[in-house]
Amino acid sequence: MIRQMTKVFKFRVFVSALLLALLALSIPVASQTEQQPDKSDNPALHQALVDLTNPWTVMCVAAHPDDEDGSTLTVLRRKYGVHTVSLFSTFGEGGQNAVGPELYEDLGVIRARETMAASEVQGSEPYFLGFRDFGFSKSAEETFRAWGEKELLRRMVLYIRRLRPDVIITNHDTTSGHGHHQATGRMILEAFFDAADPAKFPEQLNQVSVWQVKRLFVRNRGQETSTGKEAPPQIVTIDPNETDPVRGTTYAQQALAALHKHATQGPWPKTIPAGGARPIRYGLVKQATSAPPLPADAKTPVDGLTLPDAEAARLVAPTIEGKPLTQFLDRRLELLVALLSSKRRGGFTAPKDVVDTDPHRFKLMAQRLDNALAVTAGASVAINSAGTALVPGEPARLNATLTNSGMAEIVIKQLKFRGLGVEQKLDAADKMLPGTDTAAAVNVTVPKNAAITVPSAEHLYDGLLFGQSLKIKADVVVDGANFSVVTEIKRDVTPPVEIVRVDPAIYVTTPATSQKPLEFKVRLVNHQATEFKGLVRIVGATLETGREISLMPHSSDVVNVSVKTMPVSKRRQPQSEVDVTVDLPIPKNPINKRAVPLIYADASVAPDLTVGYIPSFDETLAQSLSALGVEAKQLSVADISSGDLSKFSTIILDNRSYEAHHELIPVNDRLLKFVEDGGTLLVFYHKTNEWNPDERQKRPQLAPYPILLGDNRVTEEDAPIGFLQPRHPLLNFPNRITQADFVNWIQERGLYFPREWDSHYTALLTTNDKGEQPLHGGLLVAPYGKGNYIYTSLVWYRQLRAGIPGGYRFFANLISYGKGKPDASASSTP
Ligand SMILES: [Zn+2]
Repeated sequence: MIRQMTKVFKFRVFVSALLLALLALSIPVASQTEQQPDKSDNPALHQALVDLTNPWTVMCVAAHPDDEDGSTLTVLRRKYGVHTVSLFSTFGEGGQNAVGPELYEDLGVIRARETMAASEVQGSEPYFLGFRDFGFSKSAEETFRAWGEKELLRRMVLYIRRLRPDVIITNHDTTSGHGHHQATGRMILEAFFDAADPAKFPEQLNQVSVWQVKRLFVRNRGQETSTGKEAPPQIVTIDPNETDPVRGTTYAQQALAALHKHATQGPWPKTIPAGGARPIRYGLVKQATSAPPLPADAKTPVDGLTLPDAEAARLVAPTIEGKPLTQFLDRRLELLVALLSSKRRGGFTAPKDVVDTDPHRFKLMAQRLDNALAVTAGASVAINSAGTALVPGEPARLNATLTNSGMAEIVIKQLKFRGLGVEQKLDAADKMLPGTDTAAAVNVTVPKNAAITVPSAEHLYDGLLFGQSLKIKADVVVDGANFSVVTEIKRDVTPPVEIVRVDPAIYVTTPATSQKPLEFKVRLVNHQATEFKGLVRIVGATLETGREISLMPHSSDVVNVSVKTMPVSKRRQPQSEVDVTVDLPIPKNPINKRAVPLIYADASVAPDLTVGYIPSFDETLAQSLSALGVEAKQLSVADISSGDLSKFSTIILDNRSYEAHHELIPVNDRLLKFVEDGGTLLVFYHKTNEWNPDERQKRPQLAPYPILLGDNRVTEEDAPIGFLQPRHPLLNFPNRITQADFVNWIQERGLYFPREWDSHYTALLTTNDKGEQPLHGGLLVAPYGKGNYIYTSLVWYRQLRAGIPGGYRFFANLISYGKGKPDASASSTP
């Protein structure tokens, strides 16, 4: 034993001597390293080194993706090496989608991925509390009703205890903006002290320990929030306009690049304004009694924080000749020697007496030292998977590659895989020379009972959103210093044949279409390494059909399946369900299944309608018009500018059309001419800044008579609806609209309600959230020339998409307006 140790010791001395000898060679190290092509690694290397200088964790608390303060997170991590995490109350799934058709949970999946991408740019780690984003809410109370006030507090406390931030920052105050923002802003103030109180949520203490955050800062937007009795809060100002010397851009530019990752919430500004981004001011609103005072000249929210001497002494970053390692980016050998020496001396390991009080900080800093060693030594691991998905019962087909792109020999002590409930030591070479790599197969079969993680939208809240975690850890030795190199990827676990998508996802029929066969498009992927032969079936209470399919290994296909009508009496049940299944050749043994709601809406349209429509972000209009049995054509901007519009009785502009198709604005006169000549133009909601006249945007008044939008919304989806003109034909033909048509709406009633409109318009509906003024502009209609113009800020598209029968009945009246023959008694409008 002693002999062995001596040998190791001698070897180490030898290698150290060799490294130092290299350094001492007459060839200047700088010129030697200039030949290295890996200058592009400098940001990673710089980050790994600056991370060693900062033991603090800052948590940014936000209600939705894009509410995080990306500028401050970027400055804190990139410039100062602060460990930064962000905590989101929701996935933002209740918002609108600026780039694609996905909404609700599907949108949540995309926003979660966007947030991951943005966090990577910011250098922060995102965490999600997983509350449902049920859409815009006006008050914290409405939010608490949906989420549970105590549950919000419980989850915040748990994440504070788990992640142990020294400082919390948030953009949200307790009184302004979105109700989700207010609720998040209010509850984090309570969580600040509750996380340190063992009497609060004691059941968590089995997993985590209590934790006292030192300081809490709330974004200060200029207006003083204090009541006048209290002194205004102490302020820290973060200026993101400084240029990052390593990346060559300002921190504000980096934060903007991160914001661009939140693409579904765009459009974002393309560049930082010429005068620079506005500095960010944070007010100190809470501090622990044990926290040192915030220095008057603090540049960051962690300035002035201190650790007990015994801890601080162990957390001193290594240096070279007393200078920070970041000054030696192009002298890797010297860096490596300094880091190896720190590691051998037990750098960043907890002294015995603090093992129990602050282990998290030491674990984090020890990981940072290992990461700095790995980056400097050029050691990295990767997991490669032959397929993109994992199928229960099948081999995982993974392998690990360990690469040495550095200058020193790497001894491999152990290479280990962990994932899918399996731990496995991998066979690998026992050492690697510079410039080599070594691969090892992971011989793992995906357990038969591994949890399926697709479709992702069904796993937004259960922790399987990004798939199953697969990790490789390499324990290595360089020049006598032991450290670990780790990597983690996530992979979906799928059924052997996945039903990726069924169109339509909700099947609506009406009197005009209830006798037609049901037609489905089913998108399938065979994740197996063998051909799949089997059946796709549609199975309902009174119908069944099947179709043989065959899918090549690892291939996808879209299969059309239709099933004939069933007796009308059955079909007119307001709601039932069919299953789309994939079966092995012996039927009734489905290996995968997707339920499709089947909804009957008693909605009729005027005879002989021909509808043209311009979709914005999804296929709702096409599917709804098809459900109504209407002859319909999708129009392009070119069709509007130069096509023959006289063949259409009605044209529909989908929500936010003028934003989705800017080119519509210059040809808008053609649409108004279409109305003048006798057509009906139906325009769905727009945002204020996409609609109101704006000379700089070259946007005139878009309606034939002025409509100016405001910012009012009605967010309660069950807010009462009043009929201002109950006998108006639009409310009576072809379908007689009643209160029943406004039952079971989802999400909200409407948004960006008009605040002013010309007297040519008739306002038909009134609605408002509890305790607010009635809004009359939700549905405006005006005759213009021989035709009619309708603007509506109610969210018809959400109701149509969700298969709400009342939505179909009202939509049928909207597209029928001015056509056919309204009931005589209803046509006498005031
Ligand atoms: Zn928000």
